[in-house]
Amino acid sequence: MPWSQVALRFLILLLLAAGFRLKAAEASRRPPNVVLIFCDDLGYGDLGCYGSRIPTPNIDRLAGQGMRFTDFYVGQAVCSASRAALLTGCYPGRVGIQGALGPGSKTGLSAAENTIAELLKTRAYSTAIVGKWHLGDSPAFLPTRHGFDEWLGLPYSNDMWPHHPTARQFPDLPLYDGERVAEMMPEQARLTRRYTQRSVDFIRRNRDRPFFLYLAHSMPHVPIFPSPEFAGRTGLGSYADVIHEIDASVGTVMQTLKEERLDRETLVIFTSDNGPWSVYGDHAGSTGGLRGTKGTSFEGGMRVPAIFRWPGKIPSGTVCREVAGTIDILPTLARVAGAAILATPVIDGGDLSPLLFQERTARSPRRAQFMYWGTHLDAVRAGRWKLHFPHPHLVLEKPGSGGWPGVLRNGQIGLSLYDLSTDPTESRNVAGLHPEVVSHLSSLAEAMRDDLGDSSPPRVGRGIRPPGIRTD
Ligand code: MG
Repeated sequence: MPWSQVALRFLILLLLAAGFRLKAAEASRRPPNVVLIFCDDLGYGDLGCYGSRIPTPNIDRLAGQGMRFTDFYVGQAVCSASRAALLTGCYPGRVGIQGALGPGSKTGLSAAENTIAELLKTRAYSTAIVGKWHLGDSPAFLPTRHGFDEWLGLPYSNDMWPHHPTARQFPDLPLYDGERVAEMMPEQARLTRRYTQRSVDFIRRNRDRPFFLYLAHSMPHVPIFPSPEFAGRTGLGSYADVIHEIDASVGTVMQTLKEERLDRETLVIFTSDNGPWSVYGDHAGSTGGLRGTKGTSFEGGMRVPAIFRWPGKIPSGTVCREVAGTIDILPTLARVAGAAILATPVIDGGDLSPLLFQERTARSPRRAQFMYWGTHLDAVRAGRWKLHFPHPHLVLEKPGSGGWPGVLRNGQIGLSLYDLSTDPTESRNVAGLHPEVVSHLSSLAEAMRDDLGDSSPPRVGRGIRPPGIRTD
């Protein structure tokens, strides 16, 4: 071979190697993709890796390859408030979102708040929400006005439709695609599958740029509908079939990431918006033995499964017992994506990345988890201790069945201190034995009342911001 040809081949090899290095450097600079899977009313005890009999092999694998949290809290134990907390990194009261917003709601998420999607847009992410929004259904409140490039899903809960078992005032349920209603009264048994297909499509379309996929399943919120392919598959009833189908959806999403070679460049988070809606009996999930349900500030309402997976970054098969929650997801994503959080508006969450990356001295990023029901500060948790202030709460008298709600009654709890390290079911009040702990947690609560207020005794918080008000 003539020298000129050898030299030419050598030059080509050099250029290829340089190109490869450039690509590798680009990849290392590229922030991770984020897939955030958020279930609706999935309980602490509904997954195999949290002790359930329901087969959830794909979610269990996620936990085996990542980190599972044991003490992970929602912002408040009800849909809209919880979603406001997740997407803004704030307690729901701070951003003025309470309860579950209905069709035509006069309020919604304020344009002044910064969502995870808006934060990641500053790092050039493609963003999609697939599934339930529930932060206002008037045009100005829709997810496409809050940083999401695209949306396929429901504007609010899937029971806000004419077939509600006890309330008859709901209009036909719309399915949105972008800001357009694509379909009225979509077949609910197909929702999980449709959400999964759109998620796969979004991942494939965005394989070459960073993306944020917020997959907010409508299930297992009642009315529960497994698809025909999954109905009866677990032999454990419809609720288990629905969870098993969500697990299969997780498997499909993970397989897609693998096929697109994005497995190691993607942080996957799986969690839920609140505990099970136990009044629906066999159509509700399990708290795994924790006290209370959705709609209460007991652990069964507030504590949810949470799994974080990012191969090569988060050690596999690890368990974190620190207090953390959905309000910490926004600051955590800001950190890993290299996005700046603005000084205002202030947020409540903290960065979990030291915990996720197992830095030796890592602890919960927050001193306490505050638990409001509506505008009432029901309880505060710091470390192993949880202090309830006197408050009314719902108690399950008789569970429902077959999609019909059962019976609730009103209960009342007085000042009660629980040691969650030995008493996770909040059954032994030890306030009398630990007055110094009661005093410490009370002082944390007092500071929070200054900030976010309290309804009883009435107190106006200085840090509360208004929700968006509908103008159309
Ligand atoms: Mg919910």
